[in-house]
Amino acid sequence: VKLMDIDFINISRYSFLKKIIYPSIEQEKKCFIVTANPEVVIATRDDPDFKVTVQSADYVLADGIGVVNASRLINDPIKERVTGVDLMYDLLKYASDNKKRVFFLGASEEVNIKVIDIVKRDYPGVVIAGRKNGYFNKYNDKIADSVAATKPDIIFVALGAKRQEGWIHHYMDKFEKGIFIGIGGSFDVLSG
Ligand code: UDP
Repeated sequence: VKLMDIDFINISRYSFLKKIIYPSIEQEKKCFIVTANPEVVIATRDDPDFKVTVQSADYVLADGIGVVNASRLINDPIKERVTGVDLMYDLLKYASDNKKRVFFLGASEEVNIKVIDIVKRDYPGVVIAGRKNGYFNKYNDKIADSVAATKPDIIFVALGAKRQEGWIHHYMDKFEKGIFIGIGGSFDVLSG
């Protein structure tokens, strides 16, 4: 479904994960997921670089009822709203069940550490590839290299909307594999 030059995938969360993302992890494919709420869609109109970034994603999902409503208005209704935080919980469960490597990038040091503690407790099968708080210069090659060196299967990037997608777009080439997803404030949600 095309909204303001952005192609949204029209799929349920369940099918998206089961048919596309879990097989991609197993096949060690690289994949960039954007969950776009109305603010993100509007930001692509005002910022051409950000628009290119979002258009470079493999999958853009509708994260917000506003996006779903817009699709209804053009008579091309998106099935379901899919949020970053829901995808994070599903991916953590999958990673725990399948002993996958996960990198946790972003949020404050306190929140980031708390997230690791909660993951160790609630998702014991997750292999923690590494963690890093989100307060650094956006384009820091050394940090990106150190994340890539951990060879994660899943990289959660919680740097805030726009910044996180920019980071993924800029640095994805350094990685051999991995599901990259910007998850906004989801670490803050997970850590309570
Ligand atoms: N964040 C970060 N580095 C920054 C700015 C934000 O790691 O330079 C983190 C912040 O701590 C929070 C998350 O990004 O965990 C989402 O931030 P915010 O709510 O500002 O973003 P948005 O609602 O736009 O996704």
